[in-house]
Amino acid sequence: MSVKENFLEIKQIVEGAAKKAGRNPEEIIILGASKTQPVEKLIEAYEAGLRYFGENRVQEGMKKIEALKGYKDIHWHLIGGLQTNKAKYAVKHFELIHSLDRKELADEIDKRAKKEGKIQSVLIEVNVGEEESKYGVKPADLEELFEYTLQKENINVLGLMCIPPYSEDKEASRPYFALLRNLRDKLEEKFNKKLPHLSMGMSNDFDVAVEEGATIVRIGTRLFGERNY
Ligand SMILES: *Cc1c(COP(=O)(O)O)cnc(C)c1O
Repeated sequence: MSVKENFLEIKQIVEGAAKKAGRNPEEIIILGASKTQPVEKLIEAYEAGLRYFGENRVQEGMKKIEALKGYKDIHWHLIGGLQTNKAKYAVKHFELIHSLDRKELADEIDKRAKKEGKIQSVLIEVNVGEEESKYGVKPADLEELFEYTLQKENINVLGLMCIPPYSEDKEASRPYFALLRNLRDKLEEKFNKKLPHLSMGMSNDFDVAVEEGATIVRIGTRLFGERNY
């Protein structure tokens, strides 16, 4: 199938899952996870109507942003783990950073955003499966990081992000998605701050994520086809 056909199918699945959960499909953003994909594929997706793109690496993202600068209304998100020494470029080029997971990075993002005269929107990435190999703050340490970040003048936290442990069975992701939603609800209540976004769900489980409250689903292979690593 073409990228366009994939996109239309993904949209339908999102709509179906939203209806099932009694949600408005329009509040759900489909984000194309475009790492390693060639620019031509991104353009195909754009022409099919995709306006949100998520890149994993700052450098690769900057190249794509440059290549697509003639295409209007694109929202560029950084979805991969962020090294502190790249925060400067992340702040310069990305509208939303999904991967804030430590105080040191919050310090650096805040400092760089100040220099840019910008309020940087971020999500806090939570390591919901407490996996050694994954980015993200542990659920037990989330509140402390959140409170710390709230004090940063040039950062606005808009919600949470997660990547559950990999499984062939999409239902295995459901409890992790529910956990992320519950963590969000608790923070909202305790700190009296709206956290509109839950970034969760990828190619194999995004319908389940929508049922559990996702507002941003990050889709790579299902949209663009296999990656060329
Ligand atoms: C690659 C990636 C995705 C998309 O993965 P697919 O399984 O190809 O849909 C989503 N989120 C992040 C953070 C990724 O790195």
